[in-house]
Amino acid sequence: MDNVRQPPPQTQFETPCCPLCGGSSGTPFIQAEDDLGGRPGHFHFMRCADCNLVYQSPRLRFEHIGAYYDDEYIAHRKKIDWGVLTPLYNWAMGKHDRDKLALVQRFQPLNADSRVLDVGCGAGTFLAQLVKKTGASAHGVDFKDLSALPWMEIMDFHHGVLSDQDFGEQRFDLITLWHFLEHDYTPLETLAQVRDLLAENGRLVIEVPRLNSASFRLFKERWPGLQAPQHTMLFDADTLPHMLERAGLRVCEHLPYGAFPAYFYLFCGVAFKVLRGRGLDLSRAIYPYFAGQLLLLPLLLFERRLNLAMQTVVCEPA
Ligand SMILES: [Zn+2]
Repeated sequence: MDNVRQPPPQTQFETPCCPLCGGSSGTPFIQAEDDLGGRPGHFHFMRCADCNLVYQSPRLRFEHIGAYYDDEYIAHRKKIDWGVLTPLYNWAMGKHDRDKLALVQRFQPLNADSRVLDVGCGAGTFLAQLVKKTGASAHGVDFKDLSALPWMEIMDFHHGVLSDQDFGEQRFDLITLWHFLEHDYTPLETLAQVRDLLAENGRLVIEVPRLNSASFRLFKERWPGLQAPQHTMLFDADTLPHMLERAGLRVCEHLPYGAFPAYFYLFCGVAFKVLRGRGLDLSRAIYPYFAGQLLLLPLLLFERRLNLAMQTVVCEPA
């Protein structure tokens, strides 16, 4: 993950308007480093004076952000050999996909007639799990082309950005955005497009990090949810529903947790505090990762009540 060795030059940055309200005034909120990748540079988030959204400004222009999504990027995982911990790693990744499926099926039961679209599907393992368990037809979009992965065969994979895709007359019973929206450069346009792609009685499920959470209060400028420079926005429990309503969506459920393990943020937060921007080598961190998880197990059993790190909304067209 060392394809970026110098801080990005100022010429690669732009100063966006607030992605929620279009305002241009605000106050500095927090400064972040690329704590996960360890690449140099300081990145700045501001809080909009008009709507309170926290967003990255200045931010890298879209054509320069791709370098930060290299092959080791966790959602694009291709590493399969973790030594003796391979079975445990596979179990943890499988559990994440099973937790996603259990969560969405509480709000949108799926069967062989259902159509599902996952925007930012990464390596596609969630959709593969979903097809296996429900027989639904699965469609995924990602700007990294991972279609060569063997399990991608059972889904319809679209390579590119959502706005470039043409789904014809197809409408979807379920659309999921797992940790996608906080990366988006044009979130209102994306949300309007997915709203129009929903079938009648279709549901949209969105999970993002939660700014007003225990882990942010604990780690502040080393909070893994900052994930600079990839995260363009940081949502709290107010600004997320605000954005959805603005895009013509009605929030049916708002959960103070997600399918993504909050423990990942607790572990990375501690590691980022220690490493201070030097980057986290996930293959070396895997032993302490699972050891810490065992240690915190009693706490993690109550994860859903503790508002640790995530939030999930279930929406329908307004
Ligand atoms: Zn705003």
